[in-house]
Formats: sequence, C-alpha cells, structure tokens
Amino acid sequence: MKTYKYKFGDQSNTIRLGNLLDDMWQVHDYFHKWQRQRYKDGLPYANDAAMCAHLTDLKRTTHPHWNALPSQAIQEELRRIDAAYVRFFKKLGGRPKTKKRHKFKSITLKQTGWDLKNNRITLNFRKWERGKWRFDRVPYTFHKHRKFHGTIKRITIKRDTCGDYWLYLITDFVDTEFLPTTGQSVGADFGMKDAYLTLSTGEKIQHPQPLKTNLKKLRSLNKALSRKQKGSNGWWHCVRQLARLYRKISNQRKDFHWQLATKLCKEFDTIVIETLNLDGMKRLWGRKVSDLAFYQFVEILKFKCQKHKRLLKQVDQWTATTKPCSDCGFHNQNLTLSDRQWTCPECGSYHDRDINAAINILQAGIPVKVSTRYA
Ligand SMILES: [Zn+2]
Repeated sequence: MKTYKYKFGDQSNTIRLGNLLDDMWQVHDYFHKWQRQRYKDGLPYANDAAMCAHLTDLKRTTHPHWNALPSQAIQEELRRIDAAYVRFFKKLGGRPKTKKRHKFKSITLKQTGWDLKNNRITLNFRKWERGKWRFDRVPYTFHKHRKFHGTIKRITIKRDTCGDYWLYLITDFVDTEFLPTTGQSVGADFGMKDAYLTLSTGEKIQHPQPLKTNLKKLRSLNKALSRKQKGSNGWWHCVRQLARLYRKISNQRKDFHWQLATKLCKEFDTIVIETLNLDGMKRLWGRKVSDLAFYQFVEILKFKCQKHKRLLKQVDQWTATTKPCSDCGFHNQNLTLSDRQWTCPECGSYHDRDINAAINILQAGIPVKVSTRYA
C-alpha cells in the first residue's frame, strides 16, 4: 500500500468540502453520544452492523438530510467508531471520545463517488431536486506534483489545521527500488547530547531541531495571540499563522528524517539500531524528545529499508550498549552519563561514548567482531 498526498487548489467551491466534513462530523458526534447513552442505560454495545441498522432508521425518520451524505464515508466513520470501541474493550486504548467539530479532519471514500482524471477529481454530492435525489458533480483540481502508480483503493480528503485541503490516494502499489549492495554494515546509536545519530563508523549526525530553532518565533506568536480578543479577526489571523508555523516545523523535521534514511540506505546493506524506550526518554528530556522524533525516524527508516531491500535490525532494549568496551568486552560500571570519553582500564583503548555504543549495537546485531578502529 502506498499513499500519495496532493494539495487541493484554492477554488471557491472548496467550501463544500468543508461543509461536507462538518456534516460528517454530525454523524461522528451523534454515534459517539448514542453509544455512550446506551452504555448509561445498561444496553449492550452496538457493533458496526447495529450502528448501520440504526443509521437506516435515522435516515428514514428523524435525519432524512443524512441521505445527502456519501454513504461510504458514513460507513467508514461507523467502522472507525467500532474499531475505537473494540480497542477500548481490549484495553488497548482509552474510552473513545467525540472530537470537536474543528478537530474532525478527514473522510474516506472507497471505489465510488468520485472520478479521477489527470489533476482533476470530480466528487459526487447528492442533492434533493424536483422530488428526487440527484448527483451534483463538482470538479476539483489538485496540485499533481508527482505521478501515482498502481490502482487506487481508497481516497481520503483531509482538512489540516491551516485550513488547507489535501487529497490522499491510497493505492495498492508496492514501492521497490533495489539499490546496489555495498557490503557495509552499520550500528547507529541515538543520542540526546552530542549528536542525534552516531554511526559505528565514527560519523556523528546532528539534528536540525526545527522546534528549537523556531521557538522564538513561536513564543512571540503565542504572545501576540494572547493579546488578541478571542474570536476576533486578528485572533484568527494569529491562529492561522501559528498553525502554519507548526506545519512548517513538522515538514522540516520530516524532510530531515527522509534524507537521513535515504543516506543510510545508500551507504549500508545492514543497519542495526537499538529499541528505544521512549517513555523513559520523555520523562528525562521532555520537549527535546518530541523535537527529535526518534519514533518517526525509525518508522521512516523501516519503510525505506523495505523499499531498498536493506536489512534493518533492532537489538532489544536490555542489551548493554554503553558500558561494555567494544574492544575487549570489559563492563565499565563507573561510567556516568556525563562521561563523554573514557579509557578502558582493561585493554587501554580510548573510547568516545557514543561511537563505542554504536559499535556495541552493531556487534549485538551482527555477531561478528568488528575490526573498525577509530582514532
Ligand atoms: Zn577494553
């Protein structure tokens, strides 16, 4: 499965997409509240099919206007609610909540209700006209910056916090692009202090930390926002500016992660990383962990390795990587977090803390003695 994302062009009728999302939110809101009421009344949980049956009743009786909404999108929404409750029952997630209207962001359509040609997608809106439901075909253009491959399985229309609309084409395309083998393996150690990623080759890669670099701007915008009257034009202007800045930060971070993953895949056949204990890190470091977004990088790296046919290994969380000497295996128990360099009392080799850890990770992933030495 591969998803392609395109931005909708600005045109006057994009407001209909917004209205459609708001209308779909009503369905979302209604069914969440309905489930909760049923629970309060001591009724059993109503699953997907039961919700569908109830929907049919509603359409016939009190909510005839819901007939105008794309039925596939409603079904998808009911399926999402059901999935959220199933997760809740399995104790995998919290109690499903109703989203606020402006937080309700996407609808999904399957095979019908739309038609795609070049950079134009025609959506079928239903409307009641002369005693009959008719289709109102509305064409939208989107910025097709790249071709898509495979057949489209679903489409999703999304509204982001900046008020822009995006088209997601979910295709069955399996993206593969095998790179020539290099015969090189690498261990990578994630770090918070000196470098984002330290490779067993001795290379240290810094993170641009977009949140940190934009913090000043963010603070001044937040201050400006708090000075404004809530709900006024100036306030809304500020809200949009903030949303745009947050989007920029997240894009900068993602861009760096993609480039780094590509670089690693080009240079190495096997990449060994550690399994991260993110909760522990968050407690220790706070905001910086979110800015570095280790998890996102690992997910991107996984995808890239699959695409380029590279082997990605994750050594488990309990493998000792920092304390053992990568040359002789001596456990240096006296090592503290502030020791960035140390000398092994056993064999006398001088270590950089992170590079030593990266080599240990590589050795844990590939049980071969690594002979790479660094000065
Ligand atoms: Zn040693």
